[in-house]
Amino acid sequence: MRSFLHSIPAALYKKIILGKPEHEIRSLQGRMLARIIQYANSKVPHYRANPLRDIRHIDGLGQLPITHKEAMRAEPMSFVSAEFGQGELARILTSGSTGEPMALYYSKEEAVYSYSLGHFHFLENGFGPLDTLMHIKIAPGHIGLARKWGLYRFALGSTEMREGELLQLIRSCGATMADSYPSKLALLAVRNASESRPLRLRCAFSHSETLTPAMRRCIETSFQCPVRNLYGLNEMGWVGWECPNGSMHVHPDSAIVEIVDDEGNALPLGKKGNIIITSLWRHSMPFIRYWTGDTASLGEKCGCGRGGQVLENLEGRCNDYITLPSGRLVPGITLIRCLKAIPSVLQFQIIQQKDLHVDVVIVPSGAMGDADYVQIADGMNAVLQEQLQISIKTADRIRPGAGGKHRYILSKCPGGPAQSGGAGS
Ligand SMILES: [Zn+2]
Repeated sequence: MRSFLHSIPAALYKKIILGKPEHEIRSLQGRMLARIIQYANSKVPHYRANPLRDIRHIDGLGQLPITHKEAMRAEPMSFVSAEFGQGELARILTSGSTGEPMALYYSKEEAVYSYSLGHFHFLENGFGPLDTLMHIKIAPGHIGLARKWGLYRFALGSTEMREGELLQLIRSCGATMADSYPSKLALLAVRNASESRPLRLRCAFSHSETLTPAMRRCIETSFQCPVRNLYGLNEMGWVGWECPNGSMHVHPDSAIVEIVDDEGNALPLGKKGNIIITSLWRHSMPFIRYWTGDTASLGEKCGCGRGGQVLENLEGRCNDYITLPSGRLVPGITLIRCLKAIPSVLQFQIIQQKDLHVDVVIVPSGAMGDADYVQIADGMNAVLQEQLQISIKTADRIRPGAGGKHRYILSKCPGGPAQSGGAGS
């Protein structure tokens, strides 16, 4: 209930900020940045020992050191504010789907703010008093007082449920919108298309994994509605959301995004690179120039009139490799890009066995013909450039990995690193 009440002023405030001219947004970000730096230098052990330069404008952000996940994972408590006593912070452990699990700390106020950001995305995409939104989550919690009192119409479903069951649930509660992982929404869309009277939605929200063009097309066609992608991280909640024009806006009063090359040098507008984020609202565990592992480019201002940064070509992190007979490691992302570009491939998983044999499991977007198999094999051979035994098979579904996220690559190879994930919270 508290979260719901908080979301109304937070949404209004955000609307006001998004309508401000660019110089005012940047000036506000500069002031918020200065406050976060001052706070970190005085309250957070790591920054007390290594004080940050006093930056008062976002143009100076590049002078601060980049913070890598490994450093925070090794000594999480040195990044936690000394202002909070034991027991005052909620501790969550990331699933580790993108590497080793990491301990994160949130104050109660931060948890409420994070929740309100989620509501904002729905409101900005037309969620109204007559809508019901179906959250399809890994472990659905309680429905909450706001829902019980009819103030905010949400329904909960589990990713563990079969698609037929979920469609039935959506029908029975009259949900007009849904949000979940794109891999789950796509499977739901395939099942929906096979129904005698397919369900229609007003909007579908996708998050936590990379949304491929094939998935977007499949969901939009089946449910006859737009798909809006959301971008967030466990570390700092929601960062960006797609507006009705289809641009991914960054919350200007929550985060500053930088796009850098592998050496940390800033890249110009339109150039794809690594995403570094400075959170402007996380105090209990500040994230300053945090290397997310995700990639994107910064885009031009959106025609919808909302101000702040726009993200394009967003892609989740992938730390996986395929091992070749010569011992050479091929970054998994190159194979993932190759398969994502094939329209007949809705979902896929690449599994490398101990003997280096590679099984490619495909959930097709329609009937697969010989030409599709040839396209997949040719595409993979072009990337690998070395003889490797590849078997391609189709399946109805692919089971999600740790934390319920879809994993693109599983390596059972000795010495082969193993994790892959998606852009998301
Ligand atoms: Zn827009």
